[in-house]
Amino acid sequence: MAYVTVGALATAVVIGLLRVKNERGPLSELIDDASRSIAQATASGAASQVAGYDYGNLEILARNVSRQAGVVYVVIQNAQGRIMTQASGQEAATYNRFESPIVFNGQAIGKVTVDVSTEPLERALQAMYWRVLVEQLVFGAVLGLIVYLFTASGIVMPIRRLTATMEEAVERGDACVPRDLEVKSSDEIGRLVSVFNSLNRSLARYHAQLQGKIDLADQDLRARNDELRGRTLELEQALRMLGTMATTDWLTELPNRRKFDESMAQMFHQSIRFSEHVTLVLFDIDRFKQINDSYGHGVGDEVLRDIGSLLQQAARKSDLPARLGGDEFGIILYHTNAVQAEQFVNKFVDSVRAHDFSHQGIRLQVSLSIGIAQVDASMSTPRALYFAADQALYESKNSGRDCYTVYSEVSA
Ligand code: GH3
Ligand code: MG
Repeated sequence: MAYVTVGALATAVVIGLLRVKNERGPLSELIDDASRSIAQATASGAASQVAGYDYGNLEILARNVSRQAGVVYVVIQNAQGRIMTQASGQEAATYNRFESPIVFNGQAIGKVTVDVSTEPLERALQAMYWRVLVEQLVFGAVLGLIVYLFTASGIVMPIRRLTATMEEAVERGDACVPRDLEVKSSDEIGRLVSVFNSLNRSLARYHAQLQGKIDLADQDLRARNDELRGRTLELEQALRMLGTMATTDWLTELPNRRKFDESMAQMFHQSIRFSEHVTLVLFDIDRFKQINDSYGHGVGDEVLRDIGSLLQQAARKSDLPARLGGDEFGIILYHTNAVQAEQFVNKFVDSVRAHDFSHQGIRLQVSLSIGIAQVDASMSTPRALYFAADQALYESKNSGRDCYTVYSEVSA
């Protein structure tokens, strides 16, 4: 906008300068013509007086001419150049000289010289400069205003509207402008807006297609992720099951020998390190073979299961009950010495005695032979502890079964 206004003012100034140049010539010519006329008129008025050597009238003539506006000096000379009369008029710093021959009967008999001040010309030129300046300023301002109004409504406003709409879309993070812009004219700006609208529509279509593809890919990815998650879950489940199977006895669902050995080793070392009481209880069902033989393996299994759950019920959370194989079970009692283990064994045996082991109305006799061994300084490995408890168990078998033996008693 500022460029347009400056352009309009510059145009006005150039036009002004051209006008001054054009008007200056005629004006100075006009003033020169007037001055020349004074010289000529003086020459024709002086002709008869020069011819008749009428000095008195010549002097009056020169004085009258010198009183004319702008005349600085008048001199009348004869053909030989002798001054016949002269007169001074107003004073002036600058002047132009005009000469005119004095002709009498077709013969030059002298000349008139008139110096005319150039001040009127200067004043007229000055006045002209100011007039042209004011006119051109008014012209420039009007031109600028017209250009401003035209460009503002026809060019600047539509471009601003276009820019603002695009900026809004950018701020919202949209890929394109949500609606068409209004086309208000059929000129270049109108065409620009139309082209913008069609480009914007293409962009919107392209964006929609792209979004569709992204959505599809997203769905596909999500489906694959779900499938993968499902498979991972299955795999985790299978691994968990495998882990459980590897450490669990399938019949009683108690920890198996493997788990028992691991835990016993851990508890044994903890007991040594922290001087905590740990006692191992091993037991074996008395004459279990007979139950199998008399009532079948299934009944034997049932007895094993019942013993397992009775052991589980008697155990605390910190204990580790396990089926070690066949009809042999074990339990590691943490924070428990041999005396406390005896109390546990008594309680457990009572629960076994109280339990109803029966088959087809026949009550089965189930008793246990038990060995108890507490970790002590003589034991350097978990195996030694197991060996001690096993020895005590053996002792119980030898003592007629259905009883418990504490290892220290055996070794003593
Ligand atoms: P003892 O008093 O000396 O222990 O005599 P017992 O008959 O119990 O002899 P032993 O402990 O040596 O025999 C254990 C038997 O347990 C041998 C086997 O037939 C049986 N058995 C081992 N595993 C299973 C099983 O999973 N289920 C069943 N029903 N019987 C089993
Ligand atoms: Mg047995």
